[in-house]
Amino acid sequence: MSKRVTIQGDRAAFPGNACVHCIKPGTQEVQIVKVKGYAVRKVAVPFCDDCAQLRSQKSRRQILFERAAVANSILLALAAGARTYIFASNGQAFPGDVSWFWGLLLGTLVALIVFGTMYLLIRPWAGYFRGPETQAALRAVTIKDFDWQTTTLEFADEEYAAQFERVNHKKDDQDQPAGGPAISNGTERET
Ligand SMILES: [Zn+2]
Repeated sequence: MSKRVTIQGDRAAFPGNACVHCIKPGTQEVQIVKVKGYAVRKVAVPFCDDCAQLRSQKSRRQILFERAAVANSILLALAAGARTYIFASNGQAFPGDVSWFWGLLLGTLVALIVFGTMYLLIRPWAGYFRGPETQAALRAVTIKDFDWQTTTLEFADEEYAAQFERVNHKKDDQDQPAGGPAISNGTERET
């Protein structure tokens, strides 16, 4: 079961700086990111080299899909570009002598736009073909929510989350001005 922990701000202490995925000593900091409208929250999280690599590793199917996405986008772009070229250079759309030039220019432009749009639309789907190990490493910790003052992290490992909560809430207590509540009203009574 996963567990959520809310911290103050965006700086967190990680228990023993252990890798969030496998609890081996963390060797690098990986930024996890969440975007909410125009607001972006980033938190640096310790991972070991193996797990960090696992997070960015691409499965065979993912690579194949990305290649197919590029090939399809190119084909569609060429088709759209060629159609535009034929249409624009037939001498009616633009003045006769230079119509081939405008046709080529417009065709190239259309091809580029079609390619860019297709690529941007299709590419994110490749994420569905991530290997199970990569998915697990990506799910080890995510930013679930945030606002001006707090960040809520979700941990796949409940045990790690409990440790994390302990470390960070202790830190928060230390950040508070010492001496407890400022107002005592003199109601202390000795019995
Ligand atoms: Zn690890």
